[in-house]
Amino acid sequence: MLTVEEALAKILDEVAPLGAESVPLLEAQGQVLAEDIISGVNVPPLDNSAMDGFAVAWEDTQGASGISPKTLTVIDTVMAGALSKKAVTPGTAVRIMTGAPVPTGATAVVQFEDTDDAQRKAAGQPDDEVNIYEPAKDGLNIRRAGESVAEGETVLRAGVTIRPSEIGVAASVGRKEVKVIRRPVVAVLSTGDELVEIGEKLPEGKIYDSNLYSIASLVQRTGCFARVLGIAEDNEKSLVEKLEQARDADLLITTGGVSMGDYDMVKDILDRDGEMVFWKVRVKPGKPLAFGKIKGRDGRSIPHLGLPGNSVSCMVSFELFVRPALLKMMGRENVDKPTVDAILEEDVKNNAGRRVYDRAIITRRDGSYYARLTGPQGSGILTSMTQANGLVLIPEENQKMSKGETVKALMLDWNEAYNI
Ligand code: AMP
Ligand code: MG
Repeated sequence: MLTVEEALAKILDEVAPLGAESVPLLEAQGQVLAEDIISGVNVPPLDNSAMDGFAVAWEDTQGASGISPKTLTVIDTVMAGALSKKAVTPGTAVRIMTGAPVPTGATAVVQFEDTDDAQRKAAGQPDDEVNIYEPAKDGLNIRRAGESVAEGETVLRAGVTIRPSEIGVAASVGRKEVKVIRRPVVAVLSTGDELVEIGEKLPEGKIYDSNLYSIASLVQRTGCFARVLGIAEDNEKSLVEKLEQARDADLLITTGGVSMGDYDMVKDILDRDGEMVFWKVRVKPGKPLAFGKIKGRDGRSIPHLGLPGNSVSCMVSFELFVRPALLKMMGRENVDKPTVDAILEEDVKNNAGRRVYDRAIITRRDGSYYARLTGPQGSGILTSMTQANGLVLIPEENQKMSKGETVKALMLDWNEAYNI
């Protein structure tokens, strides 16, 4: 039986980054940039003020203090987005707002707080003069043209994953669209005669189809489009019919129908209509994982991951095997889940002789991570996944790991809700 690493390597071998497309900037979040972005402008475009205050010739302020201010004549006001038509000459100042271009001749900006501007206003005195109380150094409070980005500079490189800061940088140089690796379209199909679509009445002996929803939302969270195909019955006709809608997808995920009893059906279809790469991985939960390829339209070959039907197993299998494949298709270099070393807070058994991934609650105290299990680890107990923020890895050769030992924990959720 394949190890987790062997199985993952086989899957990753069969998938490649998808092609690039141009998308509106706001749709690019989470995608990998497929071009270098070179600025056609200086940011900022002109020298501008970092403060609300007075643009002055710095020499005019030398020796200024509270008891012996320097008095300058105010010749103009310039707001952000406007240009002053006046030049600052010795003895003069221009009232200037943050972001406004610095007038010709000005070499520093003195903030309002270091002048008598507020007192004048309060006393209703004329504002055609200002007293400066502090000496300014050359260049004080002036942001230089091209200080953030110089024209011709590469601001973002192909290969980066686009986050809000990358979106902001692209916008700051005026980009409306960016070229990115396109998002995979992932067909998701549940199999099982026992399954009923949510919203319908539940006949005796049936269960609601939850896998379709947990898997489709994992697909979405990974940044892909989920094409929800619904439920196929446990017969060839129904399955083949449903698979028709997957023939132009980039990847197909099915759940169920791969354990001993049902396995032959999925296998028959893959054999006839595609190719089986492997079945079964030395892992718990999730042993009956099938990986193959089905024939798509126009001679395409679509990777197919047949996840186990148990609702926890299919989610864990997604994290271990599907997510890395999708990330590779999206052009990501690193496809590993964030992992921490955590100290076990209880003894953990492994009777399976397989690699075990137990659902766990990972917390941090005094700079160390700790892991405790969510409780019973039955692979159908989906509510346990709602308590878990990680999976602890118990190696295949360990029959037990004891409280106090350090384990690897794969972080499923890494956010402020868990205070880690
Ligand atoms: P299977 O792999 O098809 O043998 O299914 C294993 C177990 O998972 C059975 O108890 C199924 O009822 C359950 N199961 C299969 N598919 C789903 C699903 N889509 N939603 C919830 N449970 C499922
Ligand atoms: Mg089944």
